[in-house]
Amino acid sequence: MRPESIAFRPDELLGSRDARIRVRWLGTAGFEITCDDHVLLIDPYLTRASLARTAFGRLTPDLDVLARHIGRADAIIVGHTHFDHALDVPVIAKKTGALVFGSRSAVKLCRAAGLPEERLRMVERAPSTEPIVAEVGPFRLRFVPSAHSRFALGRVPFPGEIDDCDAVPVRVDHFRCGAVFRVEIEAHGRTIVHVGSAELTEVAKAPREADLLLLCVAGWRSSRDLPERVARVLSPRAVLLSHWDDFFVPLDRPARALPAMAMEPLVERLARAARDARIGTLPLLGELGL
Ligand SMILES: [Zn+2]
Repeated sequence: MRPESIAFRPDELLGSRDARIRVRWLGTAGFEITCDDHVLLIDPYLTRASLARTAFGRLTPDLDVLARHIGRADAIIVGHTHFDHALDVPVIAKKTGALVFGSRSAVKLCRAAGLPEERLRMVERAPSTEPIVAEVGPFRLRFVPSAHSRFALGRVPFPGEIDDCDAVPVRVDHFRCGAVFRVEIEAHGRTIVHVGSAELTEVAKAPREADLLLLCVAGWRSSRDLPERVARVLSPRAVLLSHWDDFFVPLDRPARALPAMAMEPLVERLARAARDARIGTLPLLGELGL
């Protein structure tokens, strides 16, 4: 299945005509959510370093790309601290003055990059405790402990924490996974859920159905019954598939799928399990309203 064959229409509205929330896909698991002049970024990774640089070189944010595509931000949410979720976060936070919400590892990363302590919000808790809730403008954020897909020969790639470091991590294996969250975002009576790695913990059923689920595709087949569990726990009305794109290719080229994403069976199973849910993709930097 070609991802563009199930694309949402440009500027498609999910739900009412007076949509006050805009959701823009930044590639990988990255999103910009705008509501009432407040901007939330989730896992923004726009640098998209080449495969050669990712594997062998120094990973540094692409400042030109960030200047071109990132304007304001009130808060940045880091779902976990692999490079393709966290590399650009400290630079964007410095440039925008945004608060950063994330794990201990995310906080260490930002601290090492020189961000002031008062802008860092550590939202990691033990899985059995109540998720942390925070408010940013019209957004209510709930950080639910989750897990990472075990797609690397049955294991989580680069597990563990970003250790307290004086220097900012610059190699792919420095960006340890850290704690993983799914994030439930409410604004104006609408609920958006971000699942940034294709895995889910079921300890906490979402309090209400998700008007829009932002679901990571990469690695989904390593997580048993993921489509069915996603449908059971989150009851999505619409699913925007993300993190299927080849993120070693720059942002100004059309998104193309990584190998072995198996989107067709994923879409079929999601459609069966989450009855009547609208399932689709966006082009890079494309938007939806809800
Ligand atoms: Zn990851």
